[in-house]
Amino acid sequence: MAVAVATTIGVEHVRDKIARACSDAGRDPASVTLIAVSKTFAAEQIEPVIAVGQHVFGENRVQEAKAKWPALTAKHAGIELHLIGPLQSNKAKEAVALFDAIHSVDRPRLCEVLAKEMIRQKRSPLLFVEINTGAEPQKAGVLPQEADEFLKQCRDRYGLIVSGLMCIPPLEDAPGPHFALTAKIARRNGLKLLSMGMSADYTTAIMLGATHVRVGSAIFGERAEA
Ligand SMILES: *Cc1c(COP(=O)(O)O)cnc(C)c1O
Repeated sequence: MAVAVATTIGVEHVRDKIARACSDAGRDPASVTLIAVSKTFAAEQIEPVIAVGQHVFGENRVQEAKAKWPALTAKHAGIELHLIGPLQSNKAKEAVALFDAIHSVDRPRLCEVLAKEMIRQKRSPLLFVEINTGAEPQKAGVLPQEADEFLKQCRDRYGLIVSGLMCIPPLEDAPGPHFALTAKIARRNGLKLLSMGMSADYTTAIMLGATHVRVGSAIFGERAEA
């Protein structure tokens, strides 16, 4: 029970902070979607968060989401599931079936498989292109200077409708400039959605235009593993 109480307070606290950040930024709170990142947490820890009205959740692994979520979505109407982690092409089929949004579109081969599966399954998850704003070699995402060309390719070559951009700033950097750069790339490409901001920096992200914040530990507590 202690866990249930703690998570309830967590999500309500985050909602309050989002409302305050929106007010400070002169934004409508309805323009920011809170994605509760439930990776590594079990159904029993997710249930109390659903019980207080949270219905948008994020997972970073297809296999984990597949094991955990079908039972929860069967039980609770209106759940929206977002894939926020890297996606391998050979998992794209399962991802299209399972998720309502994919935040990690970042290479032509993945676009090709996603386009094919979206037609075959008659499903159209919301698509975000991930930008590797820190040009970190170990990280997924398109380099900022290649973003315009990649977005054009998504549209013209693969027929994909991309709705927005996503970024994960390098741990050691101040996040603001990375959020601002992502917002700038979105603006010049006519994209309305921005997936940016995690537990440590979602209020900064809201100041810089985030429409989707991905918050895990501030809601669920610290994770045992990443
Ligand atoms: C885990 C994760 C988050 C949430 O991180 P917290 O610091 O726990 O809020 C957000 N985005 C991505 C891509 C993640 O993998």
